[in-house]
Amino acid sequence: MAQKTNRLKTLVNSFTELIDKEQAEEIILQQGSALLKDLIVTDDWLPDEYAQPHRKFYQQYLLYADPDSRFSIVSFVWGPGQVTPIHNHTVWGLVGVLRGAEYAQAYENNQGQYLAVGEPIKMVAGDVEAVSPTVGDLHKVRNAYAEEVSISIHIYGANIGKVERSVFLEDGTEKSFISGYSNSIPPDLENL
Ligand code: FE
Repeated sequence: MAQKTNRLKTLVNSFTELIDKEQAEEIILQQGSALLKDLIVTDDWLPDEYAQPHRKFYQQYLLYADPDSRFSIVSFVWGPGQVTPIHNHTVWGLVGVLRGAEYAQAYENNQGQYLAVGEPIKMVAGDVEAVSPTVGDLHKVRNAYAEEVSISIHIYGANIGKVERSVFLEDGTEKSFISGYSNSIPPDLENL
């Protein structure tokens, strides 16, 4: 029987190679986007365990953490209608939609207040976008669907679940947070 392609393991290997040879954020975002796109263009690999929504909270399942914390891969599962607060990342990040769709609204700090910049971008399965302190780090994201689950795969330039970052209210209030993960054990890459 033909072996099913281990897409996640392939991505981890090629992303590790990219990070080994490249430190420039611009190149990582550019080449990393193509690698992430290869992963999300086919929706047949994410184990159900890491695709489960929660009734109240969007879920962030750790799929892989680089042993040197140079990057991490997360499955972000949106329940119907779920939405993030305005938040930052403090490191570069790539977001690729695997299933369903989401809206991302960019924000900027304008004299102490947080204002939406432009219109929300609708991302559908196969789309990839980047965030970072260089290219724009503040946004608010929501499931495009009120009655369906959506899932995006995120790659960040750190072990994101351990990074201290912030959420913001439009009036300028900032609150620091550490997102953590919804799971304690990432999948075994050898057994996908
Ligand atoms: Fe984000």
